[in-house]
Amino acid sequence: MPEIHNPRLVLTPVDHTLVASKLDELINYLQQQEFISGSAEIVAEHRCYSIGENFLYQVSFLGCSPTLFSDDGDQDIFISIIEHSDVSFAFSSEIPPPRCPHCQKTDKSWRQYFQHWTENKNKQEICPNCGDAFSFVDMKWKKNGGYGKCFIQVHGVQENLAVPNPAFLQSLQQFTQTEWEYFFADN
Ligand SMILES: [Zn+2]
Repeated sequence: MPEIHNPRLVLTPVDHTLVASKLDELINYLQQQEFISGSAEIVAEHRCYSIGENFLYQVSFLGCSPTLFSDDGDQDIFISIIEHSDVSFAFSSEIPPPRCPHCQKTDKSWRQYFQHWTENKNKQEICPNCGDAFSFVDMKWKKNGGYGKCFIQVHGVQENLAVPNPAFLQSLQQFTQTEWEYFFADN
C-alpha cells in the first residue's frame, strides 16, 4: 500500500480556499495529458495513480534522474489526488519559519499558531513585529509548506529535487481557470 505521508511535491491552487469543483473532470484531464495512468487505488481517501507516459515531460528532476522503480519492480514515484472539505496544511520538516503576510518577517511561533488554528479556524494572531492581525493560513511559506483543499501530490520526491514544468502548470491553469503553485511536504 502506498505511503501517503512520505516526501512529496504538492500542487495546489494559489487560492487555497478553492476546490476543483469537478474533480472527476480534472482527473480525466490528467489522464488525457498522460500525467497519471491506470485506475485509482484509494488510500486514506486519496486517489492514487501510477505516473503516466508524459510525466517526465511535465515534472523536471534536478540532479540525478529519478529511480522510478525499486528492485522489486514497484513504482517508487506515484501520484495522489485529494480534495479536503476544509483547508488543509502540509509542510516539510526542512523548515525555515514562515513569514508574516503583512511585514514578511519570519515568525518562529508558527507551531503555536498552527495549534490555535486546529482548535479554531477563525483565530487571529498578532504579529510580534508589525502588530497586524493575520490568520495562520495566510502565513507565507515559500516552498516548504502550504495550504489548500485540492492537492495533486507527486510522492517519492525529496524537497527541491523536482519541479513542475511551467508549461504543465500553465495547462493546468488553463483547464481549471485558476492559478496553481507548488510546495514540498513530508508529513
Ligand atoms: Zn508582521
